[in-house]
Order: sequence, then C-alpha cells, then structure tokens
Amino acid sequence: MQYDVTVIGSGPGGYVAAIRCAQLGFKTALIEKYSTLGGTCLNVGCIPSKALLDSSEHYYNAVNHFTEHGIDIAKPKVNFKQMIERKASVVKQTCDGIDYLMKKNKIDVHHGFGSFVDKNTIKITPDKGDATQITTDKVIIATGSKPSSLPFAKIDKKRIITSTEALELKEIPKHLIVIGGGVIGMELGSVYARIGSQVTVVEYMDKIIPTMDGTMAKELTKVAKKQGIDCKVSHKVTAIENKGKEVIVKAENKKGEQVEIKGDYCLVAIGRRPYTDGLNLEAAGLSTDERGRIAVDDHLKTKVDNIYAIGDVVRGAMLAHKAEEEGTMVAEQLAGQKPHINYKLIPGVVYTWPEVASVGHTEEELKESGVAYKVGSFPFKALGRARASMDVDGLVKVLADKNTDEILGMHIIGARAADMIAAGVTAMEYRAAAEDVSRMSHAHPTYMEAVKEACLAATENRPIHI
Ligand code: FAD
Ligand code: NAD
Repeated sequence: MQYDVTVIGSGPGGYVAAIRCAQLGFKTALIEKYSTLGGTCLNVGCIPSKALLDSSEHYYNAVNHFTEHGIDIAKPKVNFKQMIERKASVVKQTCDGIDYLMKKNKIDVHHGFGSFVDKNTIKITPDKGDATQITTDKVIIATGSKPSSLPFAKIDKKRIITSTEALELKEIPKHLIVIGGGVIGMELGSVYARIGSQVTVVEYMDKIIPTMDGTMAKELTKVAKKQGIDCKVSHKVTAIENKGKEVIVKAENKKGEQVEIKGDYCLVAIGRRPYTDGLNLEAAGLSTDERGRIAVDDHLKTKVDNIYAIGDVVRGAMLAHKAEEEGTMVAEQLAGQKPHINYKLIPGVVYTWPEVASVGHTEEELKESGVAYKVGSFPFKALGRARASMDVDGLVKVLADKNTDEILGMHIIGARAADMIAAGVTAMEYRAAAEDVSRMSHAHPTYMEAVKEACLAATENRPIHI
C-alpha cells in the first residue's frame, strides 16, 4: 500500500495530524501499536486522570462542604471499584470517538508496531499474525513518551508504581508516597488524598510545581496542606524499597539528614522520557539526542527531508494541546501553507482543586531576563461569585510590561482556572495591554471578574473590589 503521509502513533499529536492531513486531501495512514487509539492522553493520561479527579472531588465536597450548603446526607462512602469503572467507561467512549473520526476522515488505521525499513518504508508488526509493509511519501513520528524511572528503584507496578498503575489501583492506598511534586504528583496525590489516603509528596526542588510561577507554588502548597497533603520539598530520594505490603522511601533533606517514609504504595512521578524504542530510526538515517528526543527544526522537520516529528517525542512541553498544534502545523506545511505556533502562549494547567493555570512568562523568568515589569493580583476571596460557591482559595496574577502595559504573563490559582486561562491566551495572542482587558465588560458575578480586577491592579493599581 502506498500513502502520501504515514503517522506513527495515535496520541493527540498523531491522530490530529492524521485528521488534518486527510482534510487537506492526503492519503493518510495511522499506525498504533495498542488496540485502542488516543495514546497516553486518552488511555492513561489526561482523560482518566481528570475522570478520577472529578469523582474524588464530588466525594470530597459531599463530605466537607454539603452540610454548610444546607444539604444533609448520610455519611457518603467511596465505592472505589465503581469510581475506576466509570473512569474506564469515560476512556472507552473517548477512544471510540477517535475510531469514528478516523473512519469519517477515511484514514487507514493499522494496528501494530511501526518501525522504519528505510525512510519511505514502514514495517507494521501486529500482536498476532504476519508483519506487513507500507510505503509512504512523508512520515510523521508521534510516538510520545513513557514515565521516567530512578536508576536505583525498580518500578514493580505493584507497590512502586507509575501514573498508569495509579489510575487502575484495586484499593485505596492507606499511605501513598509520591516522588515528584510536579503535575502528575499533585493531581494524583489530590485524587487519593480526597478519598482518604494519607499522601506524602517528596520533591527534589525547593518548591512543588517548580517550573510554574513561584506564587502559584506557594498558594498550592497552602491548599495542599489544608487537604492533608504533606509536601516535603528539598528532599533527595536515595532509595525506594518494596517490602511486600510496605514501601520504604529514603531521602536526604536540606540539612543532610536521612529521612525514612513508610507507606503502602509509592508513585514515581518524576517526569517522562521520549519514546522511540524499536522504531529503528537508524534505518531512516535518524538518531536521538542526549535526552532521547528526536531533533527537529522550527518546522518540526527532522534531518531527513521527508520525516517530521511532533509531540512528546520532540523538544518542548509534554502537553496534549502542544502535540495537537504541532500535528496541525506539520499537516498544513505539507500542504504548502505557512502555519506558526507561538510556544510561549501554550498554557499549562494543573487540575488540582483549586486549579492552577498559567500562560506566558513567570515572574522568575522576567526577573532573570531583566525586563521591567509590574504585577497586578486579585484574590478570589474578594469576589462575590467565589464566596457564593465557597471557592475562595487562590488569586489571579497578571504580569505586564512596565512601560507598554502589554500583558507578559497570566497565572491563576482558583476554581475554574483551567478554563479561565483561555482569556489570558487570547489577550496575549493579540498583544493586549492590561488596560485593554480591564476596560472590557466582564459578566457579573463570574470568576473572570478576578482577571479584570488583576488587570486593573496591574495597569494603575486601582482594583475596585479590594
Ligand atoms: P502519546 O499520547 O504518548 O501517544 C503516542 C502513541 O504512539 C501511543 O499510543 C503509543 O502506543 C504509540 N506508539 C509509540 N511507538 C509506536 C510504534 N513504534 N508503533 C506504533 N505505535 C507507537 N497533557 C495535557 O495537556 N493535559 C493533561 O491534563 C494531561 N494529563 C496527563 C495525565 C497523565 C497521568 C499523564 C501521564 C500525561 C498527561 N498529559 C496531559 C500529557 C499528555 O498525555 C501528553 O503530552 C500527550 O499524550 C502527548 O501526545 P503524543 O501524541 O505526543 O504522544
Ligand atoms: P513534571 O516534570 O511535571 O514533575 C516532575 C517533578 O519531579 C518535578 O517537580 C521534579 O523536580 C521532581 N523530581 C525529579 N526527580 C526527582 C527525584 N529524584 N526526587 C524527587 N523529585 C524529583 O513531571 P510529571 O509530573 O511526571 O509529568 C510528566 C509530564 O506529563 C509533564 O511534562 C507534564 O507536562 C505532563 N502532564 C501534564 C498534565 C497536565 O497538563 N495537567 C498532567 C499530568 C502530566
């Protein structure tokens, strides 16, 4: 079989690239080694983690907030099996949706492991049966990533686990030790803390979510503490031992003292590594860099003329929407268009409650680059809408250029931050000044009024409601 474009990997990078290629008239093939489409994001990432976050949040609210709202119910109980089953059905519906989209767009889906025979020939090895080969004019590699591990600790998938197993547990851990206070650590740590686990997060850096604006880390640490999550920062993990039903984590704290933490499960969430195992890149004239990534230029083209790579397997944030934008960008380039991605405006979200969402520069980055900036912030507790729903934790922080007032960064921790950050992306895409946003009418009462107020604070230090 001969194709115009072959995409290897059906995650959000790969399936979006395939759809856009098909829309643009290319005869397109999509190769996926697993039986379901959707990659990490749909099967063991974004979707299942959000399903469990939502379920656990409902439970947490029923236990902690219903009475105050005037709703008296019998003490709720977690039916963990049902929680996991519901998550599985959400995943199934979402993955089935991708099957439908492939059919609708007349994309040939090949289930099997893809590997290069040469730069225009791909071998597909299914789980059962004989391997086949297809030839193709262009290739888009979208093979994603896998969890990183520590050299001294074997992930046994029983007690020492990754996010994949944490989404499939058979019981609620009594004490979950999480290595890494990044996005996965804080999201899955929240899930289990809400449904009754003791949760200890062990983070190497001096703050959790260390790549985000420092104010967000400070605020999230406060709410995590309120929810009973113990964040041990500046701790270097030296050993993780599976002792049957107990896991022992050994770490060294800032003072050089040895710390021992005992739990029943240990989730290792220290980042992910690009996945190219078995692709036989050499046969196509390709190799990986020192971090295992496939090197690409600004157009996502590899050093081999007809081969592109996108998503987690290349440089940049490991985010589903970044992978999607890259899939679209490559397809449109192949069709002779001139698309562009503004990487600085790819938002980042942590789906804890309250949520954390950011776009643009952090205050730390602006300080380091020497840009003159001003800060406007507004706390949710001063907002009527937030008080009405009792979601008063958090704030909006807007960073603007001191001279031009252009918004350089927006950082929100609060209820619905994940959805609100789109307003920051839009404003920054159109290079709005903080004053522009502060002069737009924002519906009352809404959480978005906090963005308007933070912009007022940034522009002339004249917020209205504080
Ligand atoms: P992937 O989604 O990893 O897909 C790659 C696909 O390629 C896989 O299906 C794999 O089986 C297939 N493959 C690999 N090699 C071959 C081969 N040789 N032949 C055939 N098929 C192959 N991001 C967000 O933006 N928001 C979130 O809320 C979010 N939550 C997450 C939660 C968790 C627990 C995890 C682990 C990740 C989360 N992410 C989130 C990150 C997101 O899942 C990834 O950034 C995204 O899936 C990357 O997309 P991709 O297409 O590059 O690769
Ligand atoms: P991460 O990079 O977000 O966090 C890893 C954390 O582990 C960092 O804080 C790091 O300092 C810490 N760490 C590293 N080595 C350590 C060690 N030896 N001991 C203690 N701490 C250590 O990575 P993650 O949370 O594993 O997530 C992986 C990827 O998946 C991320 O790139 C993220 O973008 C993506 N993801 C995104 C979302 C989302 O968008 N909501 C959710 C989950 C995952």
